[in-house]
Amino acid sequence: MGQYIRIFSLVVLLGIQMAVGQPNEVWQEKLIDLSEKGLAEVLVQQNENIQKISLNDGRNLLEQAKKVLALENPDQRSLPTVEGRLTFFSVQHDILVIELVKDHWFNGVYMCQGKVTPFVLKDEGNHFLQTVEKIMNPQPEIQLCSECCNKMFATALGECSACKGTTESIGFKYCSACAAQKGVCQACGKKLK
Ligand SMILES: [Zn+2]
Ligand SMILES: [Zn+2]
Repeated sequence: MGQYIRIFSLVVLLGIQMAVGQPNEVWQEKLIDLSEKGLAEVLVQQNENIQKISLNDGRNLLEQAKKVLALENPDQRSLPTVEGRLTFFSVQHDILVIELVKDHWFNGVYMCQGKVTPFVLKDEGNHFLQTVEKIMNPQPEIQLCSECCNKMFATALGECSACKGTTESIGFKYCSACAAQKGVCQACGKKLK
């Protein structure tokens, strides 16, 4: 029994060392593995809600995940505040779970045939999280009145006069969501028929 435990600890130690060796390379490999095997289902869990997202969005997220870095030595002094979880299932029953966390490192786990590979990840600039948020809350299309349609608008972001959120152009009065809710032109605020 003692010997068994010793061998077991050795295997665990070797396993951990392998993962620690080049975590980012292992992470990239797992992502490529998962996309090659093909996705069966992708779920997003936020609060109590679990929502299925399209496989197209899932593939897009896997691509984005390649820009997320796997860290060797995370700063363990503070723990991440988890806002949700993203779970990918491959057709061969591999599972990848990624925590959704803002401005902090977070955990990811890849499970394949009973083998668990943990990762500590960092999403520089929260680009991955923003992509998830865009998929979960798609913005309505830009709505302009017949006059504003023919105008040119600066590409710099502006402030929505209703919600103080950002507008697509500094020349716009409302953001897409507020304009859609009011049924008005996003640029001038005139009622749309
Ligand atoms: Zn608004
Ligand atoms: Zn208008």
